Amino acid sequence: MLMLMAMSSSLLAQYKNSNTLPVRGFCIAAPQPAGVDAFVKFIREELATRGVNTLILRVDFNYQYQRHPELRDSIALSKADVKKLVAVCRSTNINLIPQINLLGHQSWASKVTNLLKVYPQFDETPHVKMPATYAWPNDDGLYCKSYCPLHPDVHKIVFEIVDEINDVFESTAFHAGMDEVFYIGDDNCPRCSGRDKAELFAGEVRTLRDLLRQKNRTLWIWGDRLLDGKTTGLGMWEASFNNTHRAIDLIPKDVMICDWHYERADKTAVYFAMKGFKVATCPWRTPSVALVQLNDMLNFRNTATPEMKDNFQGMIQTEWSSAENFMDGFYGRKKNPDAGENTSWNCFRLLFANMKETGAY
Ligand SMILES: [Zn+2]
Repeated sequence: MLMLMAMSSSLLAQYKNSNTLPVRGFCIAAPQPAGVDAFVKFIREELATRGVNTLILRVDFNYQYQRHPELRDSIALSKADVKKLVAVCRSTNINLIPQINLLGHQSWASKVTNLLKVYPQFDETPHVKMPATYAWPNDDGLYCKSYCPLHPDVHKIVFEIVDEINDVFESTAFHAGMDEVFYIGDDNCPRCSGRDKAELFAGEVRTLRDLLRQKNRTLWIWGDRLLDGKTTGLGMWEASFNNTHRAIDLIPKDVMICDWHYERADKTAVYFAMKGFKVATCPWRTPSVALVQLNDMLNFRNTATPEMKDNFQGMIQTEWSSAENFMDGFYGRKKNPDAGENTSWNCFRLLFANMKETGAY
C-alpha cells in the first residue's frame, strides 16, 4: 500500500514535471534610467513570483555605449543601471537577454534610428526618403528601414555594440530582432540587387550567430521571416512576402526562434520544431489566443518524439510599449476603457496563472 502511494505520488510528480516549460519568458523595452528601480522591483515582485525565467529586454540604443558613444540615445542606461538589472535577475534565476534590432527596424514611423542616423551609408534604400508624416500604406512600401548586410563597414560597428551589450549584461544569449524585414536585396542596392533574398537573410543570421558563438552565446530571433506569408495566409508582417522564408533551410539549427502570433494560435511551432529549431510561442494582448497557445505548447511537448520534445521550449509574453507604460497598466495606474480584457498586462497575468495551474512551472 505504501509502495502504491509512493508510486502514485511519483507518477503525479512525473506528470506535472512533464508539463514544465524550459522557457517562461517576458519581452519588453528596457526601462529609462529613471525607471530602473521601479522595474527592478517589478522583476522581483511580479516576474520572479510567477515563474518567469527568461527576460528579453529591448535595449537598442538605450545604453551608454563606450565603444560607440555616437550611437547612444540622448538619455540612456548607464553601466550601473544595467548591473542593477543583472543582479536582480541573477538572484531570481532569470535568464536576462538583451536585444538590439538588427538588419530591419532601423527606423520607426518618420524617424530613422541611431545606426542609420549616424551612418546613413549603411541604408539599404537611401533613395527612400523619410516622410514628414508617416502613413501606411505608402508608395515606397516603407515600413522600417534596413541596413545593407553586404556593406563592407557595417559589421565592425554592429559587432562592437553587440559584444559590448552582451558583456555588460553578462548574457549567455542575445536577441537580434530581425523581424519584419521588408527592405532586403533592394533592386537599387549596388551590393544586394539581384541576389537571393533568402540567402541574404540567412547570411546575416549566420554572421551574427558565428560572432555570438565565439563567446558561447546563443542567437535568438523572431520567426516571421522564416514563414511563407502567401501560402500560409499569415500575411506580410507575421510572415514573409519577399521569399526570405526559404532561409529556414539555410540557417544554423542552434538559433532560437521566437514565434509571435497575436490574433490566432497558428501551429507554426510544429514547423520550426520539425526543422530542428528550438522555438517559443509569443502572444501579446489577447488572453484567449495566449491560452490556446499555451495548451498547444504543452500538447506539442507531451505528444512529440523524444527527438523533438525539447524543441518546444515554451512561451514568451511580449509587450510593445515602454516598460513604464506596461507597469502603469499592470498596476492599474492608467486605464484604457476601450481595450477591455485585451491588454498585454491582462494577457500576462492570465498566461502565467494558467502556467502555474497546468504545471508549466
Ligand atoms: Zn544591400
